[in-house]
Amino acid sequence: MPRKPKKPCAYPGCPELVDGYYCEAHKKLTDKLYNQYARDDFSKNFYNSMAWRLARKRQLSVHPFCEECLKNGKAVKATMVDHIIPIKQGGDKFEPSNLQSLCFSCHSRKSVEEGSRFGRHRGAKD
Ligand SMILES: [Zn+2]
Ligand SMILES: [Zn+2]
Repeated sequence: MPRKPKKPCAYPGCPELVDGYYCEAHKKLTDKLYNQYARDDFSKNFYNSMAWRLARKRQLSVHPFCEECLKNGKAVKATMVDHIIPIKQGGDKFEPSNLQSLCFSCHSRKSVEEGSRFGRHRGAKD
């Protein structure tokens, strides 16, 4: 029986010869990327859900001003509702005590600090 010839790893620029599609290192890497995308999909669906829209609306009607700006003595209209403990860290999705109203700039800053997907995409300035 002739041995199946090895092929270079499918990851661009990787010289490793492998039996499968990716070498061990790149298999792990692509699995990780895949999981990341799957999670992003999950949160996208969550933020579009009716339950979240209602929770968000209720939060903004009870706390119409950015809570971070209020701490600094400024009344800025809040446009975003943030999870104080992020969902991916086990925070409750709908519990009012885990929600805070934020203006866009406070929310972006917090997202950058957390390294969340908002931070990665919107944090960089051209
Ligand atoms: Zn590789
Ligand atoms: Zn603010």
